[in-house]
Amino acid sequence: MYYNSTRNSSVKVSSAEAITQGISAEGGLFVPESIPSLTLDEISKIGDMKYADRAAYVFSKYLTDFTEAEIHYCTDNAYSTKNFETESIAELAHLFDGTYMLELWHGPTCAFKDMALQILPYFLTTSAKKINLDKKIVILVATSGDTGKAALEGFKDVEGTSIMVFYPEDGVSPMQKRQMKTQEGSNVGVCAIKGNFDDCQNGVKAIFTNDDVKSALEAKGMMFSSANSINWGRLVPQVVYYVSAYAELVKDGEINLGDKINIVVPTGNFGNILAAYYAKHMGIPVNKLICASNINNVLTDFINTGVYDRNRSFYATVSPSMDILISSNLERLLYLMTGRDDAQIREWFGKLASEGKYEVTADVKAKLQDEFAAGFCDDEHTKQTIHMIYEKYGYTCDTHTAVAVKVYNDYKAATGDTTKTVIASTASPYKFSAAVLEALEGVASDIDEYAKVDKISEISKLDIPAALADLKNKPERFSDVIDKSEQKEYVLNKLGV
Ligand SMILES: *Cc1c(COP(=O)(O)O)cnc(C)c1O
Repeated sequence: MYYNSTRNSSVKVSSAEAITQGISAEGGLFVPESIPSLTLDEISKIGDMKYADRAAYVFSKYLTDFTEAEIHYCTDNAYSTKNFETESIAELAHLFDGTYMLELWHGPTCAFKDMALQILPYFLTTSAKKINLDKKIVILVATSGDTGKAALEGFKDVEGTSIMVFYPEDGVSPMQKRQMKTQEGSNVGVCAIKGNFDDCQNGVKAIFTNDDVKSALEAKGMMFSSANSINWGRLVPQVVYYVSAYAELVKDGEINLGDKINIVVPTGNFGNILAAYYAKHMGIPVNKLICASNINNVLTDFINTGVYDRNRSFYATVSPSMDILISSNLERLLYLMTGRDDAQIREWFGKLASEGKYEVTADVKAKLQDEFAAGFCDDEHTKQTIHMIYEKYGYTCDTHTAVAVKVYNDYKAATGDTTKTVIASTASPYKFSAAVLEALEGVASDIDEYAKVDKISEISKLDIPAALADLKNKPERFSDVIDKSEQKEYVLNKLGV
């Protein structure tokens, strides 16, 4: 299997090269040249495996330059109870009639990003060895809160790497900020940006694709790579849990092999839902992929109208990991939906950069609407939904997951579709404790963050994840705050370039 770039189809690299480079030189994203298939028979067999082996099975179809031993080295190290609090790794909770919560937050940082970022360092270091890359890999991350912490945990003290994380100063939850500022490890750095997530991400992309910076780094024996979902090594682990969830439902007798399911994903950068799209096109029977947004609803409008328009107000919401107006991974979807038309992608994404807006063809719009449904939910309804689910089912979910539940309920009411449905539950409710507690109690509380965590535990009867319980006692190690215009200088400075 080789990988092409969305902005130049003639680029052709191995998975090890795609993973180490992160992004293609001309700014495109790597995509596999075809989508490998899974037969129903294989899906059924996958149901009998443990999670690490399910992952290895899926990876063997994408990472064809890795040996079986290399793949198992990665999966066995990443997906064990050393790192995850549940044996199943991705826990499938049977919530209510025909609806299942795919809990992707039992890893070390309590958000779904761990599913990919626990394995990415193994993919990266294995890839580097395979292609005899004798350079120190510098990971630059832009984060809306969860990726940063998950990447820091994944890469801390990994030999041959260092990692630097940028987050929007006022755009993450107090718990997320504290998680990052107290990060341990000798090869880590964390810095706040006076700006929003898009500023952080644009800054990182600009540094990655700057030729002068690249050669300066090379002269010092270093190279950049990315832990954001622009890296294929971030995306492919996310395909696994959708395959795994389907196989699990069959095994549990909840559905028959071949039955279709819906998948609902609370979406920001479009990475998680794109992974569901890949799972579908590998052979997982899916009816609708439902894209749920908060009031930064650029994707809802895009799917409903075919016009992507980022020229709009940016809102800080109670689901901050979805406060994004430029969804990077959409580029991969559109590349596939245009029949891999790199010229078309260059035109649209050129327009997005210069005018903040583009419109897809009628053909692509029809394809989008055939595969996806979309909706959004504001903060008030997010909190109401958390309250409603708790009252009705005794289940406590986080704000992002609540957005997905609300959008799904709206979809069901509008369409009458009763297909069994998997909802991606993307974070532990403890990570967003202020909004979750306010939703549960019906009023905002002014007790401190840790008291809120204790209170949620009393109400929900959910164990407090060990990693969050420990935070209270950890010293803060990072406090830099810079202007977005200073990002490049900051990086070069820190690297001594
Ligand atoms: C990152 C994140 C999302 C959005 O996922 P994308 O892959 O960026 O669409 C949703 N919920 C939580 C909790 C997240 O951390």
